[in-house]
Amino acid sequence: MHPRSLVGYEPDDWVPRCVGGSRLPILNHGLVTHGYYLRATDPREQVTEVVRRFHLARYFTPFTRCMACNGALIPVAKKEIAHRLSPETSRHVDDFRVCSSCNKVYWQ
Ligand SMILES: [Zn+2]
Repeated sequence: MHPRSLVGYEPDDWVPRCVGGSRLPILNHGLVTHGYYLRATDPREQVTEVVRRFHLARYFTPFTRCMACNGALIPVAKKEIAHRLSPETSRHVDDFRVCSSCNKVYWQ
């Protein structure tokens, strides 16, 4: 079910009210359990604001998904991908993962 049909507001109705600084009517609807009025205008700051507001950092699982295709990252032995590494990376890094979908190599 699309959120707009759930609460009866069109997304275009949200923006002018948001710009005007008043509360969004959608946040007053009983079916919306996790609404929040963003204060930041910069998209990156908005992400930070939402993560802090809803305590989402505990759900982050970095280094588990491919940034290119969202495939699962699986540990791989350095010797198996050594031919794909630069000498500098090979010299300083020992922990590698490879994407199970696109085969991209990651390290941390
Ligand atoms: Zn991938």
